[in-house]
Amino acid sequence: MSNQPLRLKLDGSALTSNWHILDAMSGGASAGAAVKADGYGLGAKDVVTLLAAAGCKDFFVAHWGEAFDISGLVDPKAISVLNGPLPQDIEQALQIGAKPVINSIAQADRWLAAGGGQCDLMIDSGMNRLGVAPHDIGNPAIQKLDIDICMSHLASADEDSRQNAAQQKLFSALRHNISARRYSLANSAGICLGDDYHFDLTRPGLSLYGGIPRNELRENIRPVAQPEAAILQIRDVEAGAHIGYNATFTAMQSMRLAVIAIGYADGYLRAFSNKGLLRYENQILPIVGRISMDLSILDISSCPHLQEGDWLALDYDLVTNAQLSGLSQYELLTGLGKRFDHNWF
Ligand SMILES: *Cc1c(COP(=O)(O)O)cnc(C)c1O
Repeated sequence: MSNQPLRLKLDGSALTSNWHILDAMSGGASAGAAVKADGYGLGAKDVVTLLAAAGCKDFFVAHWGEAFDISGLVDPKAISVLNGPLPQDIEQALQIGAKPVINSIAQADRWLAAGGGQCDLMIDSGMNRLGVAPHDIGNPAIQKLDIDICMSHLASADEDSRQNAAQQKLFSALRHNISARRYSLANSAGICLGDDYHFDLTRPGLSLYGGIPRNELRENIRPVAQPEAAILQIRDVEAGAHIGYNATFTAMQSMRLAVIAIGYADGYLRAFSNKGLLRYENQILPIVGRISMDLSILDISSCPHLQEGDWLALDYDLVTNAQLSGLSQYELLTGLGKRFDHNWF
């Protein structure tokens, strides 16, 4: 696709710098990269290519289709598929050669029956999402697996919660009952919790892409994605004019409006109605009225020289926009739709 009225400017050096920061913060452990959901919406192929060149050696996806998409870019054994193998996945799994993350005894049985070979293992240390329960670790199928990474996942690492230490303690104890090449617990936020949480490998996702789940990351993590939208039409309205669906904004004085090519179908959700901000150079331009499917309306009275076709940058600072919209930083990134041109620089 080209000449979309929507583009995502993507800062490749910020992405690799973020990985280097997280790798250094992981102490003696190495940092891998969570690239599920199409690299958190930024494009998994580009992200994997850049991070592999920077030295990242382990990549985590959720679906087998996501493993397939990046399988030509790195050694398939560098890819872990977090969902594990369903019966309908086995054939594709063996073809791709990526490692399933085994989450249950049934998945272990299935993988052994297929003669699958090397895999990873997820232990549930208290989140009660995916993973083998602690009391099932002794099961013969689990003990027979050829495990590269034995991992668990923190539920509350972005908070100073007692759950963190409880999960760390349980994982530290359980790992002695599982023979694996490497052990791994921390996501982006978990990296900030200290050496006890690092083990051999960390698995950051959000902060690679500029997300700040904890204050410790605020200083060094750089933004990666900057959405921009083109102006489609400009109009002048008088005081009293009603703007957009359901007339949720009424002009108090005459004003100049621009209609831009971004809407909720692009991930710019209705939570930004009458709240979102765009920028042109140093001017801040507020959204007025409801966000539509493909369009949003802005007050550009402070920039009367703007014209059709000019590009405006969304204010997409993840921390402030998460507060503004009630969406999580994860949702702000992964929601970015399919209609953006991706421009890495
Ligand atoms: C998504 C995910 C990660 C990455 O988490 P972030 O909070 O984005 O750093 C790590 N491990 C597992 C199992 C995940 O599902």
